[in-house]
Amino acid sequence: MDPDFAFNPDGLARAVELLGQHWNDTGVPPLPLDWPAAGLGSGAVLEQMAPLVLGGAGRLGQASAFAHMDPPTPWLSWAATLWNAALNQNLLHPATAPVARDIEARVVAWLAPFFGMNGGHLTPGSTVANLTALWAARECAGIQEVLASQSAHLSVQKAAHLLGLRFRGLPVDPSGALHADALDGDLSRSALVLTAGTTSTGAVDPLCLAGRAAWTHVDAAWAGPLRLSPTHALRLAGIEAADSVAVSAHKWLFQPKESALVLFRDSARAHAAVSFGGAYLAVPNVGVLGSHGAQAAPLMATLLAWGRAGLAARIDHCMALAQQWADVIERDARLVLRARPETGVVVWRPADSACFDLLLAHMPPGAVSVTVLDDIRWFRNVVANPNADVALLAGALARALDALANTSERR
Ligand SMILES: *Cc1c(COP(=O)(O)O)cnc(C)c1O
Repeated sequence: MDPDFAFNPDGLARAVELLGQHWNDTGVPPLPLDWPAAGLGSGAVLEQMAPLVLGGAGRLGQASAFAHMDPPTPWLSWAATLWNAALNQNLLHPATAPVARDIEARVVAWLAPFFGMNGGHLTPGSTVANLTALWAARECAGIQEVLASQSAHLSVQKAAHLLGLRFRGLPVDPSGALHADALDGDLSRSALVLTAGTTSTGAVDPLCLAGRAAWTHVDAAWAGPLRLSPTHALRLAGIEAADSVAVSAHKWLFQPKESALVLFRDSARAHAAVSFGGAYLAVPNVGVLGSHGAQAAPLMATLLAWGRAGLAARIDHCMALAQQWADVIERDARLVLRARPETGVVVWRPADSACFDLLLAHMPPGAVSVTVLDDIRWFRNVVANPNADVALLAGALARALDALANTSERR
């Protein structure tokens, strides 16, 4: 037995120890220059790469991480991911993933009903979920064009491009949601993509439009998990009338990348439309991917560990943090809040646009991202991190604004 393929409890324990040791590193050592002809050995490389991989990483769970849709992940999901890497199951073949295929089916069966869907499968992200859904729409409903708001994610246009479908961008209202009377004409050859939680502002398109076109797909990549919260589920009311739904589990379901779901109202029909058989396949290959792994295992572990209530509590907490942050912005006359947050995305800017870059430079790392709306730059916060500390961020913002005031006095 080649020892590098054997179970090595000491090596793995050391890997975990190094993860802890470098948890708060900030510096990054240089990348190795050359690929040596003679290997350095696994133990040596563990020590060499820990400061690089761990030290150089963005810290998505730190108190100031408040800018992107990328959450920290629960430690249980790290454990399940380690098991996945060790076992390397391939869900393409039942023989290489006997249990993993059942785990995925069970997780989908748990989650699909929250969206009014009856099945689906995992994908590496909502980019692929959107592509898969529109592929099914083309096959099942004969659609020739894709309609989506101008605020829809670029993956929708990308999918239309790949599928040879025309893309038509529809106007949005001031909140960034699809304009309610933007739909007109014959939609019998159209797929309508509604976004539940736009990437830029977190707006929710009018989901009551679901069913108006030959196929309705809801891109709920970001805000979909609100359906699991009894407090917030109704913000996505109407989603159950869609034909398909995309949800990124590596966003608000706190999963390691790459993890998402594409769900269908009639999954048997949709899956049949996007399946291919082959001589060496015992079961048809469903969807875009060939070989793919057991991403449902960490998701199942998280769902079991937290229950619906525990998951909802994390999402509700993030939603509350967004409201608190919006209060901080709204109270300050030097700042402009674009709108009250609907789905955990807060968009704001300094009243004096000339201060934008200085303010940006004074905010803690990972605290804000930048988006452009109506040709003006705005700060954007996304509350994907349950550890975000609004009081700490408010303090940093107050100091940044004071620093700005001092700078302009000196000018
Ligand atoms: C993030 C996002 C996507 C793309 O999802 P990935 O998981 O990054 O592939 C699609 N649509 C919306 C609205 C998103 O926020």
